[in-house]
Amino acid sequence: MATVPMILPGQLAQSWIKRDHAHLSPSYSRAYPFVMDRGAGSEVWDVDGNRFIDMNAGIAVTSTGHSHPDVVQAIKDQVDRFLHMSGTDFYFDKMVLLAEKLNDIRPTKEEVYTFFTNSGAEAVEVAIKLARHHTGRQHFIGFLGGFHGRTMGALSFTASKAIYRKNFGPTMPGVLHIPYPNAYRPTLHSLPGEDYGDAVLDYLEHVIFAQMVSPNEVAGILIEPIQGEGGYVLPTPNFFPRLRELCTKHGIMLIADEVQSGMGRTGKWWAIENFGVEPDIITSAKGIASGMPLGAVIARKSVMNWRPGQQGSTFGGNPLSCAAGLATIDVIEREGLLQHTLDVGDYAMDVLNEMMQRHPTIGDVRGKGLMIGVEFVLDKAKKTVAHDHAENIVAKAFEKGALFLSCGKSSIRMSPALNISRHLMDEALAIFEDAITEAEAEL
Ligand code: PLP
Repeated sequence: MATVPMILPGQLAQSWIKRDHAHLSPSYSRAYPFVMDRGAGSEVWDVDGNRFIDMNAGIAVTSTGHSHPDVVQAIKDQVDRFLHMSGTDFYFDKMVLLAEKLNDIRPTKEEVYTFFTNSGAEAVEVAIKLARHHTGRQHFIGFLGGFHGRTMGALSFTASKAIYRKNFGPTMPGVLHIPYPNAYRPTLHSLPGEDYGDAVLDYLEHVIFAQMVSPNEVAGILIEPIQGEGGYVLPTPNFFPRLRELCTKHGIMLIADEVQSGMGRTGKWWAIENFGVEPDIITSAKGIASGMPLGAVIARKSVMNWRPGQQGSTFGGNPLSCAAGLATIDVIEREGLLQHTLDVGDYAMDVLNEMMQRHPTIGDVRGKGLMIGVEFVLDKAKKTVAHDHAENIVAKAFEKGALFLSCGKSSIRMSPALNISRHLMDEALAIFEDAITEAEAEL
């Protein structure tokens, strides 16, 4: 059972928060006053001894749970051998082994090469450069609601909240945004019965390609197979097959940003596999090493055709991170976590769909595997955005012993570790419903 804390934050947490605010960048946007002391699997404890169920996994990062013993052991073994030997200039076993493993689990028929980075944003930067290098073209298409990181190139694609760009422009030129195929909140008009993805791609072909940029000047289309920060939004069924066709027809790189959706989160290694198409370039990070900093750009061998010196990184593919990455993939395979993710995810979706019938403010429940979004509205028919209400639910759930995070305009995301037990999922969902009931009473 969750320890129900008397007052949050407790005394120790309050003191750390005060010191944090005195010395850390004010740009950090903490959702609630959780000060971590330790974690095990999907449970975490704060510095005052309060226990919480972690439904975020460090924002979809600790894919095998907090401090999985096998991941910890792999890191310890590597610590005893050596900490660093820049993969840009030297060779070492773990980097090769992990690249071989990523080739084994690739979502493409063609074999892949991997370039390792330290983070998701860095992987996106590398993917942008690779697409330009391979095609010799300059322009890109991104999606409204997309999140790809905050470095200048990645930021030029990020379009989920205006605050992320405020006062930082101009960003990298050459990126045009089109709506994401979000059927719940369509930006474009579509005909009754039409797949909304077709409306989006008609707009791309007949407006953007006809009036803004010729397709043969476009290097890449960068897309999250399932939008993360933008609201845990799934594309409509026709969208990816037709997008793939368009990319192939015009020689455009289809870049799947799998930083949040990949590494088994949807019950498949890569979320794009759910939509039956192959990407040309994949970006990965977050869950790839269960919490150690690691990113990867994985591309078809014929696409990653640059030369020595054209891309490098001192720390990218650090031996400890690669050891954690290898252990992560091993745990996911050995413990059957792809299937478990589907089983617990489907179960949670059933519970949430029932919850939606009982609650006037749950507008939509969507997801694949353990990438689940619940969108809150003030009026189901009008789909009125309920931002403050969603934040209130997150705050109340925290007070009751479960960590959730919002996303999009008024959604709450669930991205727990892939090995969360059904028992903990039940406990978290019960807390979630209690929080909703209380927040609805305050409307
Ligand atoms: N791409 C996606 C889809 C993300 O969700 C994120 C982070 O949330 C990033 C890129 C950026 O990753 P990082 O924060 O590791 O730079």
